[in-house]
Amino acid sequence: EELNKIRVANLHPSIRKGTHFKEPLVVKNAYMQYIYDTSGKRYLDLLGGIVTVSVGHCHPKVNDALFQQAKNLWHSANIHLNSPVHEYAAKLAATLPGDLKVVYPVNSGSEANDLAVLMARVVTGNFDIISLRNGYHGMSPITMGLTGHSTWKQTAPHYFGFHHTMLPDCYNGLWAGCRDSPVQPDRKCEGSNCTSTHCTSADKYVQQLQEIFMYTLPQKKVAGFFIESIQGVGGVVQYPKGYVKKAFELVRQNGGVCVSDEVQTGFGRTGDSFWHFQDHGVIPDIVTMAKGIANGFPMAAVVTTPKIAECLTGAAHFNTFGGNPMGCAVASAVLDVIQEEKLQEHCKTLGTYMIHELNKIREEVPIVGDVRGKGLMIGIEMVKSKETREALPADKMAEIFEDLKNGGLIVGRGGFFGNTFRLSPPMCIQKQDVDSALETIRQVFKKYA
Ligand code: PMP
Repeated sequence: EELNKIRVANLHPSIRKGTHFKEPLVVKNAYMQYIYDTSGKRYLDLLGGIVTVSVGHCHPKVNDALFQQAKNLWHSANIHLNSPVHEYAAKLAATLPGDLKVVYPVNSGSEANDLAVLMARVVTGNFDIISLRNGYHGMSPITMGLTGHSTWKQTAPHYFGFHHTMLPDCYNGLWAGCRDSPVQPDRKCEGSNCTSTHCTSADKYVQQLQEIFMYTLPQKKVAGFFIESIQGVGGVVQYPKGYVKKAFELVRQNGGVCVSDEVQTGFGRTGDSFWHFQDHGVIPDIVTMAKGIANGFPMAAVVTTPKIAECLTGAAHFNTFGGNPMGCAVASAVLDVIQEEKLQEHCKTLGTYMIHELNKIREEVPIVGDVRGKGLMIGIEMVKSKETREALPADKMAEIFEDLKNGGLIVGRGGFFGNTFRLSPPMCIQKQDVDSALETIRQVFKKYA
């Protein structure tokens, strides 16, 4: 009651509702893969605070790093520098391939993408930016332009200079989410899991990108191309094999730099590689990262090549909190834990198992249209019928969401119609958690089928 009053009087309406449960979940405390509400009820956190709690809530080693750092130095601003920022920059750079060695620490994913837009524009001398429809890159005025879904654009007429190319979504088709799409989905293509050596699905989507160069942007006039290496908020959308590589080639031919937004897909979560762009066989010019970087502590970074970094010198960019010792100490401990506890390998094994078992549920339950993802970044697209692939209506999704919560599972939602459940638990989740979650998911889904 008391909290309700405060919520209405003192919290901004856009955060008042929490995550769309009938009653907002008020989290009291959390440990590793579990969170507890104010009544003490325990939930398995299958969302990880939106792909952010990477190594586990209040992980002892990460907490320790935070407390130790708090005793010594909280803040210096980057007029002085501090040791944790040096240590972290070196450690982070060592995880990245090629020339991606120069780190600019910031505070959030939006801020990281803002800076990447600035870098792309300054280094190329061009203005226009291309990203994918249905993508999410942040909510600052600049990143609202990058973000390719109208839900996140309601307030800002800031889109000048931003273009969106067709979403290469093999499940929904060329105009993902548009039921009247004249181009039907390629029902044989398995997205980035596609093993066919003859898969040509990527080509038609690359052609859409080519059309932007033909009809909208003058030759050599693109500044940058932004892509999430798996589309997260957009519904865990994986692209057909070869798409990212071909798109990068085309963008570079047209004078632009390529940016991989690894805000959700980085830090080993997808299992096969530490950065998911590596699965696409590309090396971007700029990489942006946030969320899981510091297990929930506000921290983010942009990593680029020395050549691109040089374009912003002196006072060309500044922020007060970026690279603060607390964030860097925590992020450093997160990298150590991922390595020591072999969490990338764990994501691969457990994620592969989970996707396999969820596919069994898909076969059993008519409203489960598609199960996709990589490692512990998984999407379950819910449909009215497997034949038409029409989205399960929002009210049904909400009921299922609520039932899962009552059954002790916190999952996320995303996708064009909000009809994809998203699973991205802390990477410390165990097989017995997964097994009991699968049973609850099976029962709840069957109830609504
Ligand atoms: N990029 C991606 C891929 C994201 O998912 C998000 C957040 N959902 C952002 C950028 C923006 O991050 P932040 O909310 O920290 O600004």
